Amino acid sequence: MPFSSLGLSPALLRALSARAYTLPTPIQAAAIPAVLQDRDVLGSAQTGSGKTLAFALPLLQQLTQAPGERPRRARALVLVPTRELAAQVGDEFRSLAQHLDGSLKVTVVFGGVSINPQMMGLRGGTDIVVATPGRLLDLLDHNALSLAGVQTLVLDEADRLLDLGFAEELQRLRALLPAKRQNLFFSATFPPAVQALAQTLLQDPVRIDVLPAPQTQPDIVQRAIAVDAAQRTQLLRHLIGQQHWSRVLVFVATKHAAEIVADKLRKADIDAEPFHGELSQGKRTQVLADFKASRLTVVVATDVAARGLDIAQLPVVVNYDLPRSTSDYTHRIGRTGRAGESGLAVNFVSAATEAHFRLIEKRQGLQLPREIVAGFEPVQTVSEAASTGGVKGKRPSKKDKLRAAAARNP
Ligand code: AMP
Repeated sequence: MPFSSLGLSPALLRALSARAYTLPTPIQAAAIPAVLQDRDVLGSAQTGSGKTLAFALPLLQQLTQAPGERPRRARALVLVPTRELAAQVGDEFRSLAQHLDGSLKVTVVFGGVSINPQMMGLRGGTDIVVATPGRLLDLLDHNALSLAGVQTLVLDEADRLLDLGFAEELQRLRALLPAKRQNLFFSATFPPAVQALAQTLLQDPVRIDVLPAPQTQPDIVQRAIAVDAAQRTQLLRHLIGQQHWSRVLVFVATKHAAEIVADKLRKADIDAEPFHGELSQGKRTQVLADFKASRLTVVVATDVAARGLDIAQLPVVVNYDLPRSTSDYTHRIGRTGRAGESGLAVNFVSAATEAHFRLIEKRQGLQLPREIVAGFEPVQTVSEAASTGGVKGKRPSKKDKLRAAAARNP
């Protein structure tokens, strides 16, 4: 089914052919006509499925067809969990809007940077706001904008919004939105808190479920390598060289680990940078730009980077530290094998993390053979690993607490 049969305007069709996109992805084919018919949408879709265009294209069309009031009031609000995703979604809107008559204004706001330029940017109004919830509330508290004219609300990566503890912010924002509006809700996973949120937000939604579970995605090869925890950096270096990996996203559990692993790789002449929430926004943007432009071989990231990053042709993801939850696993490996490309996800499994990885496998319906790389044969036993502090503590982490709170207040 070509894009032209979905009801999109000639200007948007030209924008798509300028990008050489020939066919809509399944979520686009299903969502675009539904959004154009003003229906609410409940989309089960991961980043990489083309979901940004699935809402951006019909929203732009609706907004161009019905010129807004003057002064402008925000008519579409897209809520996203992270600054990176905000910037990415904003870029998509802007690049498509260039092909329209130039009258639509897109504003992107997120925390971690000064609020003043964002307040200035909202002067004179805007048509589309792409925002992280906390900063949006700050701007509303400063009367920098009003949500009273919002006709369509998009929740992008709703599961991540709740994982990051934004439940309360979402409640506050809802109270500021007009009751009568269109709601588009996208999430990769549907734990009970996400289902509950969808139920309270959506009215008679069109359900779109295009998400094959990662284990059934033929384009992501998943592997597990058994290795002692202390050998992981060496093994990573070995694999990068031996397998000629040109671009690798490596996940670790902490900011500290991101710094240390990146540092060790750099000392071995591998272009590597850490990427985590404590870096300045400027630095994070720079690392991403360098990675995208192939000036960096390795980015060593905490889970911040797993949320919504779109790096085309990312061939390899390595779980140096395993993710805490199955949904983090899904998000992490979803960074590779995107938009029809093939990808490889490698898990380092030590004696200490073997039981945890089995749990992930069980929940994912996976059973991966434990591979052993010559020269890196594991020797540690579970009890040794435990005595060296390798086993995760039982105390809930800050993230666990956030999750629990999010589950209590959907
Ligand atoms: P998303 O899931 O929105 O993050 O999109 C994933 C990637 O697929 C992005 O790089 C998009 O630019 C690309 N993409 C989206 N729609 C299409 C399409 N119909 N054909 C080819 N690539 C697409």
